[in-house]
Amino acid sequence: MHVDLSSACFTDLTHRPDAPAVIGADRTLTWQQLHDDAHAWAARARVAGLTADVPVAIYGHKEAAFFVAMVGCLLAGLPFVPIDTLYPRERMLRVVEIARAGAVYDAAADDFLPGTPGGGTPLAEKNVTYVMFTSGSTGDPKGVQIGRESVALLAEWMRGCFGLGDAPVFMNQAPFSFDLSMYEVFGTLATGGVCVLNARERIANGAAWFESLAEAGITVWVSTPSFAHQQLLHAGFSPEHLPSLKLFLFCGEPLPVALAKKLRARFPSARILNTYGPTEATVATTWIEIDDALLAAHPQVPIGYAKPDSTVWVAGEELCIAGDHVMRGYLNRPDLNATKLFTDESGRRAFRTGDVGEQREDGLLFCRGRRDDQIKLNGYRIELSEVDAALDHLNGVRAGACIVLRRPDGTAVRLIGFVERARGVKECESSMGSKGSAGALHIQGADAFGQWKRVLGERLPVYMVPTELIVCENLPMSANHKIDRKALAAWYAAMPA
Ligand code: AMP
Repeated sequence: MHVDLSSACFTDLTHRPDAPAVIGADRTLTWQQLHDDAHAWAARARVAGLTADVPVAIYGHKEAAFFVAMVGCLLAGLPFVPIDTLYPRERMLRVVEIARAGAVYDAAADDFLPGTPGGGTPLAEKNVTYVMFTSGSTGDPKGVQIGRESVALLAEWMRGCFGLGDAPVFMNQAPFSFDLSMYEVFGTLATGGVCVLNARERIANGAAWFESLAEAGITVWVSTPSFAHQQLLHAGFSPEHLPSLKLFLFCGEPLPVALAKKLRARFPSARILNTYGPTEATVATTWIEIDDALLAAHPQVPIGYAKPDSTVWVAGEELCIAGDHVMRGYLNRPDLNATKLFTDESGRRAFRTGDVGEQREDGLLFCRGRRDDQIKLNGYRIELSEVDAALDHLNGVRAGACIVLRRPDGTAVRLIGFVERARGVKECESSMGSKGSAGALHIQGADAFGQWKRVLGERLPVYMVPTELIVCENLPMSANHKIDRKALAAWYAAMPA
């Protein structure tokens, strides 16, 4: 059995109905159970008053019911808005509000909760499969609307080109609020495979987690390169323990050459695919298989070539993407849509990525970083201005800004926050540290720091909360009146330890 993503229907109903479809953190579902549960879920959604094109937020973390709800939404024509429990309550509510969701389905409680008061109206765009919220530079997350046609193209590409094999068993670990995870969701549905959902707590368990992966017989590893890098420390991350693992499918951030080489050495017979693309173009747009010759030839791993039915080119240094897999637009953000979306020569939707690109004569593409303040931290997409806005809201703060610290290979490792005290607010007495040459005062270890971190954590997911906070007299501004992050980084580097 599998799901035809063009028509959003289960098909091939009598083929292996008892094979596993979803191994959730809590229970396993066969294809027949997934089919029955998803239909039952869609019926409950109708009883709850949800009609076609009304967005539904799904809240939870790796429960089988989360997967069922996504499939139920597909069947009922409801755009789903996946929200992992990683999101603090305030952000979750804000996303529900921006999406004007008709309901929030709580996967852990298996319960429909009310959506936005006065919400629940159908989206202007029809047949949107999901709305993925990503970090927004105004301080609010922004919703990317992905249509059914885009999802069908993703599934076609995966089935036709990735060499997934029959009934692939996907290792899913990325939160469903990160679009990387849509690889496993739609890959499983389109192939009649298995999706193994791994909760954070299970992953933290190291050896026991790898045993469960071996037991599930995973064949396709999907993650960011950072996540795979962390696993190299574990003995269980080896072909001896994971003999059926045949493919690494990476996306979401640059794949460092050093990591690719280590993986080639540890898993000599597994294939590695590097894929690239923003959420705005349905998970990924370019791809390339990584082998030793390619690694020897390039100091930086290329992002490859455009997937079928899409075009990728470099315009004025910026990577642009066209095709039916480009989003229908940011939800209720005509300002952003006007600058980021356009139509290409053949009338297809096109998107300006904000990535600096380079294309060789033979068409091979490279991503050389960003033109703006968007970063990737452990694969999570973060607009630095969204963190700035959260710092601005701290009590007693006039303005805030953050910088990112990087490894020599350019990988982001952590965020440092800076705040300018509001006029009349005295220096925090419990803060520790000494004033640096720029008049900055470190807030480390003292109660004040703990409070600030807690308050930020109410608004931002944990991966967006800076690890250090520094109070300064005046935030440096550049000539065009923007926060001068370079100057902040120089301050930081010059601060006494
Ligand atoms: P997201 O929307 O979270 O998937 O993030 C998309 C951004 O991550 C892209 O615009 C790139 O900046 C970066 N990115 C994604 N995949 C790759 C890759 N394979 N190599 C380099 N950068 C990547």
